[in-house]
Amino acid sequence: MFPPGMHTDPEPFELYALRYARHRGRQAAHNYLGGADFHEAASDLDYYVWVARRGSETYLVDTGFGEAAARERGRELLMPIPQALAQLGLSTARIEHVIITHLHYDHAGTLASFPAATFHLQEAEAAYATGPCMCHGPLRHPFDVENIVDYVRTLYQGRVRFHRGASEIAPGLSVHRVGGHTAGLQVVRVWTRRGWMVLASDAAHLYGNLLRQHPFPVVYHVGDMLDAYRVVRELADSEQHIVPGHDPLVMRRYPAASEALAGKVARLDAMPLE
Ligand SMILES: [Zn+2]
Ligand SMILES: [Zn+2]
Repeated sequence: MFPPGMHTDPEPFELYALRYARHRGRQAAHNYLGGADFHEAASDLDYYVWVARRGSETYLVDTGFGEAAARERGRELLMPIPQALAQLGLSTARIEHVIITHLHYDHAGTLASFPAATFHLQEAEAAYATGPCMCHGPLRHPFDVENIVDYVRTLYQGRVRFHRGASEIAPGLSVHRVGGHTAGLQVVRVWTRRGWMVLASDAAHLYGNLLRQHPFPVVYHVGDMLDAYRVVRELADSEQHIVPGHDPLVMRRYPAASEALAGKVARLDAMPLE
């Protein structure tokens, strides 16, 4: 990433996945555009937020959803986001940097719980979520207007930092617009003790979407979604460095952050177990 001799490697981040909700009983056609016939295609979905931490620096990636959205959409909320973050000793009131991968209800649902935060968002995502595409029910469905109103409030409070394409937020931490799933979806590249990792968010809901290059059916632009699989691979040191946005396998492949946090918080900068 840096020209030789110009910089030393940045200090690595610790990287965590925090599981806060799930959706069971899904069929293959819910996970793969046009359906799929392999056995794991009917996977459940897990819902995560992610934390990159280095000394006193903390970056939260996405803010999840709350009880009202869980009820409305038939998802099972395992733990409210403030409680999920408290497992790592973090307080929503004090977090200063939140990267929003995109504005869907399950990624940008609790913005009002973060009064001290600056939100990092792609310009294209803001335009998409508040523009003419929202005239269309199927594109609007994964958004929640209350979240979008909360987003506009943070904008008017001067707490949104817009990014256009690829942008370094701190040494060893950058965002990259890939689009596809939404117009302005961004993935997050993080330097860790085992190299460059990529939080793919909804660029790849499941490992299977990425490995089989078979899109998830919630999609704005299929060509951009397929291109995103390539971009994510290029940004990560290997396929074992890519973290899909909703795959229950993440909690099985990575060790828990501690014994007490088994099934709740996975340590992504540790080597995967399988
Ligand atoms: Zn999404
Ligand atoms: Zn999602």
